[in-house]
Amino acid sequence: MIFEAVALLLAFIHFSIPLAYYWYAKAVWLKKPWNIKADLNYTPRVTVIVPTYNEATLIQQKLDDIAAQDYPRDSLEVIVVDSASTDRTPEIAEEWARGNNLQVKVLREPVRRGKAHALNTALSHATGEVVVVSDADSTWATRDTLRRAVAVLADPSVGAVTCIKVPAGRSPGRVEETYRGYYNTLRVAESKKHSTPVFHGELAAFRRKLLDEVKAFPTYTGSDDSHTATLIALKGYRAVALEDLVCVEFLPTRGYTSWRVRRAQHLVQHFAYTLKRVPRAPRGLKPILVAEAYLHLLNPWLLLAAAILLSAAAAKGDVLAAAALSAGILLLALKPYRTWIASQLYLILGSLRNLSGKGIAWEKT
Ligand code: GDP
Ligand code: MN
Repeated sequence: MIFEAVALLLAFIHFSIPLAYYWYAKAVWLKKPWNIKADLNYTPRVTVIVPTYNEATLIQQKLDDIAAQDYPRDSLEVIVVDSASTDRTPEIAEEWARGNNLQVKVLREPVRRGKAHALNTALSHATGEVVVVSDADSTWATRDTLRRAVAVLADPSVGAVTCIKVPAGRSPGRVEETYRGYYNTLRVAESKKHSTPVFHGELAAFRRKLLDEVKAFPTYTGSDDSHTATLIALKGYRAVALEDLVCVEFLPTRGYTSWRVRRAQHLVQHFAYTLKRVPRAPRGLKPILVAEAYLHLLNPWLLLAAAILLSAAAAKGDVLAAAALSAGILLLALKPYRTWIASQLYLILGSLRNLSGKGIAWEKT
């Protein structure tokens, strides 16, 4: 009886806190004005960094995509930074550069030390006032994406800008979309309130000066884009995701589960590091960091604990516990619920991998 009561309480907390956070963010923060003065005529020198490891099949398309942007050519520089790919990625990038009037530098790291390390190598060659990171396995939805991202940095209170994400390339794929609806709404609502602590490698734009102030991209967490943005937000600048900046991410066709676990693992690392800095966070940012750290670090475990307690009680013949457990399983027929449960499992597995010291920050599956 006591098992059940505790289990049901844990399950209630597990589901109600994220829902309450979502509804509050949507009802209150999302309705706020941006309080940002964007300027589409602000076109400072921009460096787009594309980190690559074995992206031979995608790098050409990625460079075409950047070249199709309507950003002024003489203010745009691209740096492809490759870390000892075993395919022809850097050669393909060099060939592409020879046949195009875009300013492209191809840098080669002799050893692979991870994406963040590569970004820092690129940073030491970057001449832009604004630095934009964009993964090779992604595209920007429109020709003016870059210009609109940079326009927001015209406001001196903004230090970093990211896109919202839509997935592509996964055939059934709709599970992911449900999650992104909830997820994108939170990103934008948090941004209106102050900043979002979750950034996307598909488009992460930073003021160069601030990158130097936070000592470049952190190599101690796999979530380098999110952590860099959060460090900038902790300095009092805003780090925002805009609803009209859309990135398309190519989902892996193989190894989907281990990819999700690795992503979760990186987010857990990011929030674990962020947690230590919450006490000194700007006032507007604090509730966001507290909520997101809770949701990533603690909340998934309540679900696991509830499931274990209910299973134990059900195994002892407790009918109510068996019924509650069955209900939880039957609900898996509902997509949003199933998506949620999956994301919680990824976070638990990611945390366990972190605790076991497995999977260095930059390991690629
Ligand atoms: P995921 O999106 O988190 O699964 O990470 P990806 O494997 O897609 O990596 C994101 C981007 O970083 C891609 O463009 C990769 O090619 C690139 N990348 C991954 N690892 C390295 C690395 O060690 N060095 C460099 N230079 N790029 C990397
Ligand atoms: Mn990727």
